[in-house]
Amino acid sequence: MKLDRILPFAKILLQKCVKPGDIVVDATVGNGHDTVFLAELIGKTGKVYGFDVQEQAIQATKERLVQSGLLERVTLFHKGHEGISSSIPQAHHGLITGGIFNLGYLPGSDKTIITRPETTIAAIEQLLTIMAPEGIIVLVIYHGHEGGAQERESLLHYCRQIDQNFAHVLQYQYINQQNNPPFIIAIEKR
Ligand code: SAM
Repeated sequence: MKLDRILPFAKILLQKCVKPGDIVVDATVGNGHDTVFLAELIGKTGKVYGFDVQEQAIQATKERLVQSGLLERVTLFHKGHEGISSSIPQAHHGLITGGIFNLGYLPGSDKTIITRPETTIAAIEQLLTIMAPEGIIVLVIYHGHEGGAQERESLLHYCRQIDQNFAHVLQYQYINQQNNPPFIIAIEKR
């Protein structure tokens, strides 16, 4: 298959906007896969800010970063991403070039702890405000679980009304697959 699958495409988008030395955000660190990917992209001089509400996720991510020798490039916050703006130092506001939200629940964990539309949208709005022009936010939207469809609809509604003079908004989705496969919304600040 020549078309990029969903998760590889999320990485391609991040590779386009993130360079060594950049400041980036992993808004849902989970088991830390995206955090490690971002920490590699930003190199020794950049910084990743990571958020998760679950201690288990923060610990799993920390361990993965230690194993990869990347921990010093990352600051982890055991708190909701709706606190992005107040958690990231002022000195880095305006410099953030990339961010990822991998939505839904932590695989292998409590399926009732899910991302929620109100807090996800609050976080996106804050991140858009403190991003650099041409910075990209990648949303990977899982919607097969309980509460997932509601978050999907809220996000689609929110993203469709973003002023096109403020940001470009892309939807990348396979439309003939079964079982509610994830899809991407990417928001590029202008
Ligand atoms: N990107 C992760 C990885 O590579 O393993 C997977 C993320 S998982 C699909 C979603 C994560 O979002 C869970 O770990 C969950 O605890 C977290 N989460 C839920 N609500 C949150 C919030 N308000 N702020 C930050 N993280 C949240």
